Amino acid sequence: MALNTPPLAQDVERYLAARPRAARWLEFLARRRYRLAAFPDRPLPVVVIAHRGRHPARIEQVAHAIEHDWMETPPQCRDAYEEILRQAPGLIVVQLRRTNVCGCLGHRHVIVKEIPFSEPHDAFGDAAVGEMDIAFDRVESWLAQPLMDTALDTQFIAGSRLKEFHEQQLRFRLLSILLHETHHMVAPQATEDVVRGRSLAFYREALANYVEIARATLSFTIDRSFSRLGKE
Ligand SMILES: [Zn+2]
Repeated sequence: MALNTPPLAQDVERYLAARPRAARWLEFLARRRYRLAAFPDRPLPVVVIAHRGRHPARIEQVAHAIEHDWMETPPQCRDAYEEILRQAPGLIVVQLRRTNVCGCLGHRHVIVKEIPFSEPHDAFGDAAVGEMDIAFDRVESWLAQPLMDTALDTQFIAGSRLKEFHEQQLRFRLLSILLHETHHMVAPQATEDVVRGRSLAFYREALANYVEIARATLSFTIDRSFSRLGKE
């Protein structure tokens, strides 16, 4: 967790650690892990990243997106979700899966299924609990903005930062899907077009901002062929 761990995150952390040994042992055997994360500029919502399986590092990628990348996005990106995050359930469980049968990037769940959170508990205080899943492999191969993604790729190939760029791009995708599903939770009547329009705008603007900054710091002598975004 970041320095200013919100009280709810501390309570949930304590609750998870205080559960019966048998429950925690079963989770260990199932390679189930929980990681709490919070946006640095607000105490709520607190996100519980739940992961089962062989890629525990993926938990940290989602956590990094929430704890660091969020604050690196331009203010209009964060403003667009201000109201949504304010109305969101205080505790959001994200089941991080490899993939899912329907091929979607993520879903919100009507009922919370993740066992430690499926029933009310004192540790949650008066926070509502919401749940979603995110299919990591799908997100990795998803071309959110096909033309833009490819155009940026060719620019970074010329530079020396393609790997770093791809990692950042993936974390912005994860963040945009988390926000997308949270939007659905808060406004179940909103059409997919509206929800998608907002999350794609978030992704596009966050990425464009990152590219601007990256380009400004690239050395011209090393990366002479690093062309100007969309100008050549
Ligand atoms: Zn949707």
